[in-house]
Amino acid sequence: MAAKGDMFYVWAADADVLKKGECGGAITALQQYALKSGMVDAVLAVRKGQDIYDAVPVFITNPDEVAETAGSLHCGTLLLSKLVKQYLDSNKTARLGVTVKGCDTMGLIELAKRNAVDMDRLLLLGVNCGGSVSPVLARKMIAEKFEVDPDVVHKEEIDKGQFIIEYEGGHKGISIDDLEDWGYGRRSNCRRCLYKVPRQADLACGNWGVIGDKAGKATFVEVCSEKGANLLDAAAKAGAVATGPANPKGIEIRGKVENAMLKLGNKWRKKNFEALASDLWGTIASETGRCIKCYSCIENCPVCFPVAEGLRGDSRMVTSGEVPPNPMFHLRRFAHISDSCINCGQCEELCPMEIPLALFSHAIRTEGDSVFEPKLGKAPYTN
Ligand code: FAD
Ligand code: SF4
Ligand code: SF4
Ligand code: SF4
Repeated sequence: MAAKGDMFYVWAADADVLKKGECGGAITALQQYALKSGMVDAVLAVRKGQDIYDAVPVFITNPDEVAETAGSLHCGTLLLSKLVKQYLDSNKTARLGVTVKGCDTMGLIELAKRNAVDMDRLLLLGVNCGGSVSPVLARKMIAEKFEVDPDVVHKEEIDKGQFIIEYEGGHKGISIDDLEDWGYGRRSNCRRCLYKVPRQADLACGNWGVIGDKAGKATFVEVCSEKGANLLDAAAKAGAVATGPANPKGIEIRGKVENAMLKLGNKWRKKNFEALASDLWGTIASETGRCIKCYSCIENCPVCFPVAEGLRGDSRMVTSGEVPPNPMFHLRRFAHISDSCINCGQCEELCPMEIPLALFSHAIRTEGDSVFEPKLGKAPYTN
């Protein structure tokens, strides 16, 4: 019987899922089993859209279709928490299995704090996350630094500190550190992220710590809740997944990699926040001075709920139609979001004027967290 805190190597029993999966297809097989057995009524996962840079969230109710979502797409960050909310609102008693990264997990927890989602109706399969890459920058990076046409790349992955591509005629890997020094690599919010193993999900799954003959062919699963333990036990009993104990050396390696990633995240925080602090108001004023008031940052924030609509009209200090808006337009948003900003980077990525909004809200949140309780999430898993 699995229990909270247990660690396993897990892989799909089905040969097709084993092959399609990123690291043995454990998540896909577990989602499939959860749906087939009636533990959940639907699955929310992510599949490839037009190409590998296009990550598309998809709701699935037919277990045979879950295999289409196997594999990791490193260019995808998505508004999963708002999608979950919409699903739960329109399917009043349904339960949902969701694959989540750390930021997705925190988005859901923030919505749960606002009573906007019921966590009891969710089964969260967490993926460890070293970072994701903007699709626009990924294409540019592949063309300029890998010197490969991005359209011929059929697989990308992040492994052992490298961004690796497979394409017609070969594969290439370049160190993430080098790519980031050259202005490419992971999203800037991901560099500052400290939520690498999503232990607030029901299971935390990843490739770190899988060594020996199972390397690349199984997923390291840490059981994080009773719900997660029940899923794993039932799926193994039904023959949907095979499991083995995690190699003790692998557990040690996983711990070291996680710590190294936390150190790196803190290094980026120091660098980004100190640079911002050198001219805080000047930077915020000049950057937000380009705002065209498109509301994208508000609509695309996974935790900005339920006040998004309220921000559209006139208020005492913000006049509708005034562009660029006066500083209160942004101050109001920072005040609303900065106690729960999960540093997902969506506001910044989708701002047409390329204003570094996530940096601002993350800096404000982190500054608040350094002095106030309760903090967002629970140390050391705060993002
Ligand atoms: P599969 O059976 O292939 O299932 C993968 C699941 O992930 C599917 O449900 C799929 O829909 C979902 N998915 C794919 N892309 C996304 C996305 N962008 N957002 C949300 N869900 C998605 N593991 C580590 O140990 N270290 C890392 O640094 C690390 N970084 C990762 C970064 C990203 C962006 C992602 C998505 C995953 C990362 N992982 C990392 C996890 C690892 O790549 C595998 O997902 C994990 O080992 C499970 O493998 P699997 O074969 O069981 O998954
Ligand atoms: Fe992953 Fe963190 Fe970036 Fe989310 S914010 S994609 S969890 S690195
Ligand atoms: Fe994500 Fe930006 Fe909202 Fe923070 S403010 S949660 S970074 S969209
Ligand atoms: Fe202004 Fe950018 Fe927000 Fe649009 S997304 S309202 S341009 S800050």
